[in-house]
Amino acid sequence: MDTIKIKTPKERKVKGKVEINIQKCKGCELCLTACKENALKLSDSINIKGYRYMIANNDLCTGCVNCAIICPDAVISVFRTHPKKKPVDITPENIKDTIKSIVI
Ligand code: SF4
Ligand code: SF4
Repeated sequence: MDTIKIKTPKERKVKGKVEINIQKCKGCELCLTACKENALKLSDSINIKGYRYMIANNDLCTGCVNCAIICPDAVISVFRTHPKKKPVDITPENIKDTIKSIVI
């Protein structure tokens, strides 16, 4: 009989934590593709714009920031967390300006 391996979150002291502005997410899935930890997935429900939005499993997040960099609408913020410290926002500061300069 085959056994099924269940993937458990890796044990790390320093982790990532993602916050997504779900009402501005358009469900394009670019961030999902960029996340190598499989920490993101589409919701079953929709936001006020009628899109399924991205939700994060922060137990799997490493804080690599790939999702925030690739999101065309800059709706993702990434924090670095440590059990004994306050979460630190590590989203690149100028990301919204950079995106606007590319799009406009
Ligand atoms: S910061 Fe990295 S690991 Fe965390 S959700 Fe975004 S892409 Fe995935
Ligand atoms: S890349 Fe941005 S807009 Fe697209 S699904 Fe992810 S969070 Fe939503």
